[in-house]
Amino acid sequence: MNRDKRLFLLDIDGTICRGNALIPGAKEFLDAVQQSGRRYIFLSNNVTRSTRDYIRFFRDLGVETRPEDYITAAYAAIRYLKEHFAQSRIYLLATDSFGRECRENGLNITTDGSDPKISCVLVAYDNQLTYRKIQDVCQLLTTRRVAYLATNPDLVCPVEFGYLPDCGAICNMIQTATRRSPQYIGKPEPAMVEYALKRAGCRAEQALMVGDRLYTDILCGQRAGVDTALVLSGEATRAEAEASALPPEYIFPSVAELGRVFCPGRTAYRHCS
Ligand SMILES: [Mg+2]
Repeated sequence: MNRDKRLFLLDIDGTICRGNALIPGAKEFLDAVQQSGRRYIFLSNNVTRSTRDYIRFFRDLGVETRPEDYITAAYAAIRYLKEHFAQSRIYLLATDSFGRECRENGLNITTDGSDPKISCVLVAYDNQLTYRKIQDVCQLLTTRRVAYLATNPDLVCPVEFGYLPDCGAICNMIQTATRRSPQYIGKPEPAMVEYALKRAGCRAEQALMVGDRLYTDILCGQRAGVDTALVLSGEATRAEAEASALPPEYIFPSVAELGRVFCPGRTAYRHCS
């Protein structure tokens, strides 16, 4: 195992933050990464927050970040569609704001299920979901040969009172009716890690994936061929990690301890090359 890591791929909820607060030692960890000339990129499946929202959220907690410090499942889905479905008409089941973002990025989006040119369906978290949209997607998947993608497989997203259905739950509802399941883009699929490596100009062995969930964060790192570190500040326990068929390379109580091992002092790294 190579401990000389220059790029930290960080989950946010349960890894850097809990609710609306930083996990103790997280700010010091982020500072140590940067002061030692290393880099971090946040990888988030949470599509209810845009990059702009995250920058404001972290600023209120005293952490300055830039747009290039984030890769969200929404960003990764748009990028994937630009690479693979640039010429296609895409039916979108998502919020109006995500639809705007897709159009601004040049994707050929429609929300008219009767459009004969549709060759791809994309589903995302949607707090404006209607039965009309569900019916459109079911009809397209049942009666046409269309590609079927979705941003992230998470079943629920946490809110103040508990949980709401996330993209994975919407897709499960559609699967019950059509027996089709989508190709997901967010964690644990490797696309977000691959985009991050490319953006930072790093090789897989120079990166460390850090997160609190085994079946999204750790699996994602393993699928992308990067070393993984589980932090016990969120969902998974040490016992679950040790019993896992694909255990992480490292386990730390939190990013505070991880930082002491991987960013012990100021060094002269200048990111990756
Ligand atoms: Mg998490």
